[in-house]
Amino acid sequence: MLVENLHAGGAPAQKKVFVLDTSAVISGFVPGLTTVKQVTVQEVLNEARDLCSKLELETAVLAGMVEVVEPSNKALAEVRGKVGLTGDTVSRTDIKLLALALDLKLAGEQPELVTDDYAIQNLATLFNISYRRIAMPGIKEVLRWERVCPACGRKYPPSSSRCEACGSKLVRRPKR
Ligand SMILES: [Zn+2]
Repeated sequence: MLVENLHAGGAPAQKKVFVLDTSAVISGFVPGLTTVKQVTVQEVLNEARDLCSKLELETAVLAGMVEVVEPSNKALAEVRGKVGLTGDTVSRTDIKLLALALDLKLAGEQPELVTDDYAIQNLATLFNISYRRIAMPGIKEVLRWERVCPACGRKYPPSSSRCEACGSKLVRRPKR
């Protein structure tokens, strides 16, 4: 069902690249079932590994179906600069995924972020990068986010933005 959704656009798949975020990985996106090139960043692998012990993604990476790519410093700087202006709380992983998509776009490819995460979807819009929801039933139950203070480590619900104890800007991470 997922793969049908992904091909529903009917666009030529040659230059399209799926950029997978953690929600895509956790939702059971099956990299082996699409011919579209797929990439992600190391941080997604790390987050996903923390959430699930059995990962199809790791197998796919080992089989060469998903490429783990480090974004360029130039793209990282561009994303960080623009994110700073929005005031959104964005994780290091999100920034790297966006930067990777930006690199691909500049290289003449058609990156498409595969994500159920609103923060990343908002960022993608900001950078004119298309995204695709996974919309798999159950994803909300599997992947829950929380915000944590980078300074003192206190945890907050996803709606909080500042630490009540020390005033630091909270960062988002998958709930354990
Ligand atoms: Zn704090």
